[in-house]
Amino acid sequence: MIEELVINGARVAAAEGTTFDTINPATGEVFRTVASAGPEDADRAVRAAAAAFDRWSTASAHTRGRVLHRWADLLEEHVEELALLETRDMGMAIGDARWCVGNAATVMRFYAGAIQTFGGATVPVDRDGVAMTFREPIGVAALITPWNFPLNIANWKAAPAIAAGNCVVLKPASLSPLTALRYAELALEAGLPAGVLNVVPGPGGTVGDALVEHPLVGKVGFTGSTAVGAGIMRKAAGSIKRVTLELGGKSACVVFADADLDRVGAQAPFGVFGNCGQDCCARSRLIVQESVLDEVLERYVGATRAIIVGNPEDPATQVGPMVSFGQRDAVEAAIARGVAEGARIEVGGTRPTDAALASGAYLRPTVLAGATNDMTTSREEIFGPVVSVISFRDEADAIRIANDSPYGLAGSLWTRDSARALRVARALRTGGIGVNSNSSVFPQAPFGGYKQSGIGKELGMEGLVHNTEQKTVFISTAP
Ligand code: NAP
Repeated sequence: MIEELVINGARVAAAEGTTFDTINPATGEVFRTVASAGPEDADRAVRAAAAAFDRWSTASAHTRGRVLHRWADLLEEHVEELALLETRDMGMAIGDARWCVGNAATVMRFYAGAIQTFGGATVPVDRDGVAMTFREPIGVAALITPWNFPLNIANWKAAPAIAAGNCVVLKPASLSPLTALRYAELALEAGLPAGVLNVVPGPGGTVGDALVEHPLVGKVGFTGSTAVGAGIMRKAAGSIKRVTLELGGKSACVVFADADLDRVGAQAPFGVFGNCGQDCCARSRLIVQESVLDEVLERYVGATRAIIVGNPEDPATQVGPMVSFGQRDAVEAAIARGVAEGARIEVGGTRPTDAALASGAYLRPTVLAGATNDMTTSREEIFGPVVSVISFRDEADAIRIANDSPYGLAGSLWTRDSARALRVARALRTGGIGVNSNSSVFPQAPFGGYKQSGIGKELGMEGLVHNTEQKTVFISTAP
């Protein structure tokens, strides 16, 4: 059976009849065969979205909200099916995959309600009359997503875009396209009109590129690597498309000597090794005050060693395989580079020895101690289960090191001093900071990067702002 595209409310073959296989990274076996969209399919999908726009954009916010609520219900009803699909498609541990489906439903419900409160304003102006503002959908949004949190990131983009009245063409990553297709089927079941959400898996360089260049596309929402994002921004500039980019990261986890070190040791490893380190927000630089370096390292390494790496379908597993064998090769090469540059492996760095895991793309969580911030492993995003440990002297030194990165997506800091917490959180040049926490990402709060980690925000009300145009209407009251 071939997993076909979703265009204009129907499952259809690719125009050229081409397909590609997805591989289960836990076994190395083919999991599904998927229709591979090309430029002609991109065009069909964009035209279907454009044709659906009049009806969907003029439906009341209440009507749109009701559809999103039904869609969220269906996501929750299909949590086991969707979670297992994600796990087999990209290797995510089943517990995490279940959480991701729940998060998708929560985000969907947030936008189902938020769109009904998302209005304009009346503005005092220097003429007799009333100026008022409206938020209006942009039109067709092309959404291009990565492989690491396939359903979540698709939904973070599609839910606000559709809630705001846009019609969408979604291009999921080739390594993990399956949940996006099922998500679109559930949307139709929830009552989303045909053409409002189309899904076209296929190679980024062809179908993704065709979407970015398409004259009927008004907005491109992209999550992925900084290099591809830069190319998309250049191409979108040709017709002044609206662009939001959620890109790479090299986030810091800063640990001050006054922190609760037991809590740091127990929790902070999951801020980088969750989803096998394939997380744009991974705190892949552990920056520790030198007076407590040994104590922190001992706890952090101990907790890392205890992480259960295994079959992602086993509920006890905390970390499954990497998404692909190629990605594992790249991460192993990065570890070797770190060692060559002078870092030392405290734990991990190798594949698990358990014979049951031999045919999967597994790699043990790896702590590279004795690193400096100028090593390649501290500067480049590895996108795998690797953390570099760097020491600092004082607060100013910590801020300098943490900010010395081309990226600025996320970060954590651990301290018991609340004044310091706020001072340092404000000083860090990054889009989000968790204080005594591995995360600052919530459906209700804006998420996005500084510097080369991106442009624009997702989640929260900002998700609606970036999916709308703003219009000012002036009504003269002059007699
Ligand atoms: P990627 O290689 O940049 O690919 C992302 C998406 O872009 C995929 O769907 C890909 O299609 C497509 N694509 C590739 N080349 C394209 C082109 N020339 N034109 C249009 N689309 C193109 O990134 P990835 O390896 O999937 O994901 C990992 C990266 O995503 C990391 O850098 C990570 O930090 C970042 N990320 C960022 C966030 C965030 O919110 N900031 C969240 C998650 C991930 P194919 O799959 O067919 O190549």
